[in-house]
Amino acid sequence: MSEAKTQGRLALACVDLDKCVGSTLCVQIAADVFRLAGNGQSEAVCAGSCESVVNAAEACPNMAITVTDSQTGETLFP
Ligand code: SF4
Repeated sequence: MSEAKTQGRLALACVDLDKCVGSTLCVQIAADVFRLAGNGQSEAVCAGSCESVVNAAEACPNMAITVTDSQTGETLFP
């Protein structure tokens, strides 16, 4: 992803519950976007900066997070 291209833009995250193991890494990296739900798995509650959402997705040990640009719908990760 080009940082210049997405600077100042918002990204949407989608957590695949078949893959999420509740490691909480995404919550630690982007606490404004992710939270741990009652079932112990992560959920995305709002959009966030492209940089922080992609950083969280990259840190996920199970590749459970898909990230798209909220304006263009372009896939930013993976
Ligand atoms: S980093 Fe991945 S496995 Fe860990 S809570 Fe977030 S989505 Fe789930």
